[in-house]
Amino acid sequence: MSGSLKTSDRTPAGHKPSARGPRPSALQTEGLVVGGITPLTTIDMPGELAAVVYCQGCPWRCRYCHNGHLLGRDGPEGLTWPTVWGFLRRRRGLLDGVVFSGGEPTLHRGLESAIAGVRALDFKVGLHTAGCYPQRLKALLPRVDWIGLDIKALPEDYPALTGTPGSAERAFESLALLLASDVAHEIRVTVHPDWLPQDKLDRLIVLLRREGAERIVLQRCRVEHALDPGLVSHPVDWGKTERRHAP
Ligand code: SF4
Repeated sequence: MSGSLKTSDRTPAGHKPSARGPRPSALQTEGLVVGGITPLTTIDMPGELAAVVYCQGCPWRCRYCHNGHLLGRDGPEGLTWPTVWGFLRRRRGLLDGVVFSGGEPTLHRGLESAIAGVRALDFKVGLHTAGCYPQRLKALLPRVDWIGLDIKALPEDYPALTGTPGSAERAFESLALLLASDVAHEIRVTVHPDWLPQDKLDRLIVLLRREGAERIVLQRCRVEHALDPGLVSHPVDWGKTERRHAP
């Protein structure tokens, strides 16, 4: 880590949860608004040493989101994409890839050119997305090496979880587009009994398998700093494991 870059520790800072996200048009940016960066990670892009660039802003408001500081429009002062790109340029030979995470990276119309900038540095490109913008994801598929796509719930439970009508249609359209591509990926499901008790989790996995998903990873829901302060922790019988593959 060097220069004036700030590192996101994924800890919310003073966010005000709302039942519904802002209109996407109120958030969309022409460039790429950066909310933070993790200079080195081994867990955000399978098998690769990567940096993570957190993109600022998200149109959804998931109850369990613990990135409240990344949901609004404005990022930390002084942390611009050119600054981050300059940092990444100095990491050539030390990193394998760069992952765009968020917030929701596909919110930003400047993501495509940012990806091109990362490619010009010979890094592989990863993308974390909730599938909020299927057609933008479709356009990005040929430009990325790996995608982690969040599928959050059964379709009928999406609006209550994300605070956003129509979110299920968007997420499942993105799923279909990703599965029809040859991009390496994993489908990520965050498990909590409020929206995924065992019977619903079983149904969701059946649905995902039927759609063609093979690599499905279950993640333990972390309630610390969740947008919904009423979300309580729950014991899951995973030992100390935070993630595991779906049966
Ligand atoms: S889609 Fe992701 S970043 Fe957006 S509110 Fe949900 S969990 Fe948070």
